[in-house]
Amino acid sequence: MSSQAFKAIVVGGGPVGLTAAHSLSRANLDFVVLESRPRIVLDAGSNLVLLPIGLRVLSQLGLLPAIERASSPMDRFRRIDHKGRDIGDTLWFTYFKENHGAYPRVISRHDLMQILHDGLPIEAQAKLLPNKKVTCVSTGTDGVIVTCADGTTYTGTIVVGADGAHSTVRNQMRVAALQTTSGDLRANEEKPFLTTYRSMWIRFATVPPIKPGDASETHGYDCTLQLFAGEETSVIGIYERMEEPSRDSSRYTEADEHAFISRWGHLPIIEGGMTIADAYTSRTQAGMVNLEEGILKHWSFDRIVLVGDAAHKFTPSTGAGCNNGIVDVVALANELYHAFRAVRDAEGETAFPDKLHILAAFNEYQQARFATVKDGLEGASQATGAATWSDMTHRFVDRHILSRQSLVKFFASRNAPVVAKTPVFEYVEGEEQMIGKFPWAYPIKESGL
Ligand SMILES: Cc1cc2nc3c(=O)[nH]c(=O)nc-3n(C[C@H](O)[C@H](O)[C@H](O)COP(=O)(O)OP(=O)(O)OC[C@H]3O[C@@H](n4cnc5c(N)ncnc54)[C@H](O)[C@@H]3O)c2cc1C
Repeated sequence: MSSQAFKAIVVGGGPVGLTAAHSLSRANLDFVVLESRPRIVLDAGSNLVLLPIGLRVLSQLGLLPAIERASSPMDRFRRIDHKGRDIGDTLWFTYFKENHGAYPRVISRHDLMQILHDGLPIEAQAKLLPNKKVTCVSTGTDGVIVTCADGTTYTGTIVVGADGAHSTVRNQMRVAALQTTSGDLRANEEKPFLTTYRSMWIRFATVPPIKPGDASETHGYDCTLQLFAGEETSVIGIYERMEEPSRDSSRYTEADEHAFISRWGHLPIIEGGMTIADAYTSRTQAGMVNLEEGILKHWSFDRIVLVGDAAHKFTPSTGAGCNNGIVDVVALANELYHAFRAVRDAEGETAFPDKLHILAAFNEYQQARFATVKDGLEGASQATGAATWSDMTHRFVDRHILSRQSLVKFFASRNAPVVAKTPVFEYVEGEEQMIGKFPWAYPIKESGL
């Protein structure tokens, strides 16, 4: 048992960091979330598809009614080629509903963040601190010290790195691991993610011929795009194969955006409708990013643990990156809950787990998530590869084989038992809202049980 109270320092107030805030608040554990941006809820970023695995967690947290009001369900996925010709719809989303009881829903990042923020109790909202860019993390026998660019420091028991693909916490974790004698074995690679595709995303008002809930993909050589139409705004993500894969990060300028539009602006977004250039002209926001891919070998070191994009990075093709980050938080919270229960059952309700038990919980968390995340990541990579044809074989398979509904149904059913094993918070009471053909392996704890 530890004699010291527990406090988590969460670095990064993105969707995964805010889910971590919910998990800690529900467990009555002290925490602070340090976010580098000037506000927690910003009107910036792409739209996100929430899959049943993420939706179910948000539903357990009581956020489903707000999510449903701000998002649109998606059913059929239209697929066309670069010339706007039909290459066969796909019914993935229909099978999600059939198997797991919910259609995926598209929501703007802003609305998701607002809902996650507003769903926290007022005293927990006060623990979300903007303008706190973390620069240094140091661990000791008794706890952690986190330093921000403004010179402030925060002390706690653990650091949860939810600071995204370019994570500072991940870098600090590597530095700490390398300082130990077995450092080479315990440290991650300096540049763990490989980029094969760059992306431009464009947000614009949802206006006819596009309507809320529309989902469409345009496939072809070296470039693919996805459209997800929300209630108010739609987003297209355009994924372009790079000349050479790279492990370096890139910053893109407006000139890069214009060059991108001159390469791909002519591509149709939907059959007989708008082009990428039309969407760019009427954009409310746009951005270019690298689509890093990869999974870390080590998700924790000492008192530091990583969740979400800091630990693994997917291409967006299967809409799984953020959803998996949300589930990471659940798995981590459950392992910490086990550590708390073990010590409290033995020593009373005011006891806290010691460092050894916390580190064991971190290891269990990685073990619980690693294989599923790796499979999901590979699936996303294959989906992006199949849509950005690199040769005639790819083209043939995509046009004539992947469009077969029997095959899609087969893969959806094969994947369903894995999806059904997605965890929910063991200590949060709620009501099951999603019932499909494949029963969830871990039921939501009912009130009063
Ligand atoms: C075009 C596109 C479309 C996508 N579509 C989907 C989708 O449909 N479904 C899906 O599940 N996923 C999707 N994703 C992936 C999804 O955006 C990410 O997986 C998700 O945002 C990860 O959340 P996160 O909180 O881990 O990281 P982030 O969203 O990156 O948030 C990290 C936060 O940490 C803050 N931060 C960073 N460094 C520091 C620091 N040093 N100190 C303090 N704060 C810091 C950042 O400001 C940020 O707020 C898409 C991605 C892209 C690029």
